[in-house]
Amino acid sequence: MQSIFARHAHTPLGWVIDVRLTIDRGRIASIEPDTVAQSQDQRVDALVPALANLHSHSFQRAMAGMTETRVSGRDSFWSWRKLMYQFVDNLTPEQYEAIAALVFMELLEAGYASVGEFHYVHHQPGGQPYDALSELSNRVFAAADLTGIGLTHLPVLYSYGGAGQAPLSGGQMRFGNDVGRYSELLSECRDTARAYLPSDTSVGIAPHSLRATAPQDLDAVLSLGADSPVHIHIAEQPQEVTDITAWLGQRPVEWLLNACEVDANWCLIHATHMTENETRDLAQSGAVAGLCPITEANLGDGPFNGAAFIGHGGRFGVGSDSNVRIALTEELRMLEYSQRLRDLSRNVMVPEEGSVGASLYLGAASGGARALGRDAGCLRVGALADLMAFDTADVSLCALRPDQFLDGLCFAADGSVVSDVWSAGRHVVTGGRHAEREKIIARYAAAVAALLSAL
Ligand code: ZN
Repeated sequence: MQSIFARHAHTPLGWVIDVRLTIDRGRIASIEPDTVAQSQDQRVDALVPALANLHSHSFQRAMAGMTETRVSGRDSFWSWRKLMYQFVDNLTPEQYEAIAALVFMELLEAGYASVGEFHYVHHQPGGQPYDALSELSNRVFAAADLTGIGLTHLPVLYSYGGAGQAPLSGGQMRFGNDVGRYSELLSECRDTARAYLPSDTSVGIAPHSLRATAPQDLDAVLSLGADSPVHIHIAEQPQEVTDITAWLGQRPVEWLLNACEVDANWCLIHATHMTENETRDLAQSGAVAGLCPITEANLGDGPFNGAAFIGHGGRFGVGSDSNVRIALTEELRMLEYSQRLRDLSRNVMVPEEGSVGASLYLGAASGGARALGRDAGCLRVGALADLMAFDTADVSLCALRPDQFLDGLCFAADGSVVSDVWSAGRHVVTGGRHAEREKIIARYAAAVAALLSAL
């Protein structure tokens, strides 16, 4: 049994003070406000539910800063994708694990308790499977185990090179599975997670995108899902919308909502390009919109239709996607600022009235947990103890009242205010640092040097 004493804590009733919270077998066992600390308590300043990072491709962290040079004409998403494929042609399993461990550690230090790893590199260069079909998934599991992050592993079904069942080519050969082999991969991942990982680990299913699958394959793969999370990239780039409309006769979000029973188990990543009707229908489906504002800005994708989505009661969470920059407060800030810049307005991502920081933070806490299938997202007895503590004495927050703390966190502070993180009760960050930090960074640096020398 662990116990925490917080000067302030955000519960479903709002901010309360002098709170003792106990944790038993990874879950919150009690929450008692207006009390006194006991000697064994771990003392923190402000305690909130930790966010789930609902969308990451860990290996892309190693490319950060390498695609920001304009070469000829107007750079685009598709030139970024070219370097990504060069990386993919050379990555080894050891490098994969070292990069994932760095990303998971950085996510924890940024204040996230869990991650949805949208994992699409499965095979050897050229496409030959490893001896174990789940070799690279096992590397993700090892990185999660080392760092203590809560993992929802999302093995990706990637069968085609483009809309209309175009064949895979080049770097894509490492991604490719038909539904039959994908089903075997999923079983191996589920078995491994059950046998070797903490009980809060789960395995979902992830058809990569409509362009990388086909309607009949999507049907078949959904039948493997049971009650697990379903994640899909849906409408990131205008070209993708054009291609899917030409092939399937409807825009991607429109087609998916008509063709599949999209419900609260679903997370639609980059629901960027939507009409007003698609925005309303997605919100009403109960699915979570998986937004990755820093990556979407970096890739020039465009802003999300935020005000309308929130107005229709839509649920959202955030992910770090390409991991070009891992920064929880910046992710939320970018989401709101992208709306303000487009709409020439302020305080957008809040229904009706109230604190935008609270709407962003608590909305992403609830939606992110939902998207990862984690019983978390608020401080409630019985929920997983996914907790983040931050320091309100920091110069960026010290002048604020408790009802302004989340505004300060989202708009004024940086990640250095995060002091502690617990993931399902595992106390993985103390004093802002992960215990294995030096070792993980050294292994990452060696792995990336080896990878770059092979390019
Ligand atoms: Zn993605």
